[in-house]
Amino acid sequence: MDVPVRNDPVAGLPRIAAESLTGGAPIVVLAPHPDDESLGCGALLAHAFATQGAHVVCMTDGSGSHPASRDWPADRLSRLRRQELSQAVALLGGGPQDITWLGHPDGWLGLQDRAAIVADLADLCTRVGARHLFAPAPEDHHEDHRHTAAIARRVVLALPHLTLFDYPVWSRWDDPDLLDKVAGRHPTALDPAPFVAAKRAAIAAHRSQRGLIVTDDPDGFCMSDTFQEAFATAPELYWKAVP
Ligand SMILES: [Zn+2]
Repeated sequence: MDVPVRNDPVAGLPRIAAESLTGGAPIVVLAPHPDDESLGCGALLAHAFATQGAHVVCMTDGSGSHPASRDWPADRLSRLRRQELSQAVALLGGGPQDITWLGHPDGWLGLQDRAAIVADLADLCTRVGARHLFAPAPEDHHEDHRHTAAIARRVVLALPHLTLFDYPVWSRWDDPDLLDKVAGRHPTALDPAPFVAAKRAAIAAHRSQRGLIVTDDPDGFCMSDTFQEAFATAPELYWKAVP
């Protein structure tokens, strides 16, 4: 996958400080798949791990990235992607205790017991002491991203003291109308500069998504070096969600 023709839409957005995004407490980031946490929130997570703390929840097992591979069936690929997530979080400054692996089947999050997931996430946010929760923007097209966004909205309805922020992963690059769609929600941009090295390393830790591990599925997901670098260096986008 290469950088789409779409230009980066963030020029002119107001900048936000990482301190404002954490709310002075540990944050919880919901990642639909292993890599979304680094691609969408790597800089914020690096700041949070260095200050108040953070917790990453991976909603699915990531086993759907290379469906035609015979060498990497779903269970083997899932184990690899879990290892890659642990490495990425470590590079951002976190530890094994900062990860919750829900492990639902990649692509099938919408068919899981949503009420149970919401209850577990609400318990987690309470235990961690989070004030701010981060979930993919519902404008992302992947179904697991949209279901994660819907789940997050139910979590904040259960915990009214919690503020939900959306972060776009794919839609920031492939939806030319994204900023128009969210203009009323006052999107902001986080400068990743202090954390680019950590974010770049965390993205790189997801080696299976870079064409470096699974070699027998030519149609499987593969992100180019150029696209990785665009993710690593571009400002991260956040806005308060409307539950
Ligand atoms: Zn994803």
